[in-house]
Amino acid sequence: MKLLFCTKCHDVFKLPMKEFKTCECGACKGRYTDNIKSEVSGPCLSLAIGNGSLVNAMRRLVILGNKEDRHKYIEECRLVAWVRPNEGPGNPHSKVIKE
Ligand SMILES: [Zn+2]
Repeated sequence: MKLLFCTKCHDVFKLPMKEFKTCECGACKGRYTDNIKSEVSGPCLSLAIGNGSLVNAMRRLVILGNKEDRHKYIEECRLVAWVRPNEGPGNPHSKVIKE
């Protein structure tokens, strides 16, 4: 799952298909152009959450329910996420659009 983080207003948002979405301050925007490729612009960073880690964390949450203390969720419901450049070999399916 690809997300954008605006370094100006700190908004985080998921990229939509086709239509651009902007952050709260309007400085960043992005969209998917197909199921893999995306376009972004503005002072943003690309965030990625591993789809498998999200599914696993949600499964663990269902098993744990809502009666454990927060440390149990911190230990057992972790996500794998990383920050990537907005284009280039570190993020080959995304490109920065100039405006
Ligand atoms: Zn912003």
